[in-house]
Amino acid sequence: MGVSAEARRVVEDLLAYIEASPSPFHAVAETMRRLEAAGFGRLDERESWRLEPGARHYVTRNDSSIVAFVVGAEAPAEAGFRMVGAHTDSPNLRIKPQGEYEKQGYRQLGVEIYGGVLLASWTDRDLGLSGRVVVDSDGPRTRLLRVDRPLARVPQLAIHLNRAVNDEGLKLNAQQHMPPVCGLVGDEPAFRDWLAAEVGVSSGRDILSFELMFHAVERPTIGGLGGDFIFAPRLDNLASCHAGLGALIAAAAKPVAATRLVAFYDNEEIGSGTNQGAAGSFLEDVLLRLVEKAGGGHEAWTRARARSLMISADMAHAVHPNYADRHDDRHMPRINAGPVVKTNANARYATQAESTAAFIRLCREVEVPVQDFVMRSDLGCGSTIGPLITTRLGVAAVDVGNPMLSMHSAREMGGSRDPELMTRVMTHFYS
Ligand code: ZN
Repeated sequence: MGVSAEARRVVEDLLAYIEASPSPFHAVAETMRRLEAAGFGRLDERESWRLEPGARHYVTRNDSSIVAFVVGAEAPAEAGFRMVGAHTDSPNLRIKPQGEYEKQGYRQLGVEIYGGVLLASWTDRDLGLSGRVVVDSDGPRTRLLRVDRPLARVPQLAIHLNRAVNDEGLKLNAQQHMPPVCGLVGDEPAFRDWLAAEVGVSSGRDILSFELMFHAVERPTIGGLGGDFIFAPRLDNLASCHAGLGALIAAAAKPVAATRLVAFYDNEEIGSGTNQGAAGSFLEDVLLRLVEKAGGGHEAWTRARARSLMISADMAHAVHPNYADRHDDRHMPRINAGPVVKTNANARYATQAESTAAFIRLCREVEVPVQDFVMRSDLGCGSTIGPLITTRLGVAAVDVGNPMLSMHSAREMGGSRDPELMTRVMTHFYS
């Protein structure tokens, strides 16, 4: 089945967004770039804000989380907030502060495992490096770093030296087996000196600190005999950020009563318990200011939240043909068959009947099919930012996401038509 021109435009734009975003810092920078091109102005949490109805703004925290909004024609207490939430981070390997060491004539970089990494997927891949570096240049200065050259690799052990691997499975110890090799002893600059040259300072001594992570350098692409798929890293959850951002920008020019916003958070993959994470105060702080700037006090704050809805968007598990028994028989999301509503009776998702109904109606109004997911009753369920936000803020929410395979792999897989379907529903939500 072919891909419509609009679906192709959306999916190619998604691939470009992912390509531009190897780290949460880059995801926020790319999101800012797109927002500014669409007339959104930057705000600083430290400053006083002036907000007019219809105005478009964004604000960041830690350069890795971002909230962007269009001020509603009516006060939040009367019209509420329409929100899309997603996350900017993905599981990966992160370099330790004193990471560099030598072993058996190799130079290696010690790594911590960030989030629920499918470790095997990081072996035998050409790895680039990205993140941020703070240098001493008349005071601390933060530099974004991105290197797409293949700098390092986690080589698998040859099968001749590990004969049982296919029967017993590949066992990887994070400390022992995951540090990439990045060179041979004696033939290159020390890591910190190399880093200094990359960020334009004279020596490794000028590097004060860094947060650096590896990424597979292979480019995102459309795949499959008929172009049904996308093969890309970080679909979880840049695909949801991309849909929410595209929808907000597409709908921004049309005035509506509600204040519309996106909240994209760092640190979902490690539980969200950080200053800039979804369990922190970032969104609450922004919403409270929006209520106050519209002249509201404490009652208005409560009324505004009670009138609000958040679409918590994170990727969903498509049924895998080789492991179909891992799904409940009646809840097997298919690729390119539309957004998935994720439900869990034990509230690992924020979805409730009324928020589900609201989402299904939105889908019907723009002719987008909807699917359902619940975990098998004998398997533990993952979670999202949805329950954290509903608990903290007291707003209704529905957890949804596009279906995908290989979640948390260094190279994931989704559908080429699903991005347009999700973007269409969210654009309608904001219209
Ligand atoms: Zn996710």
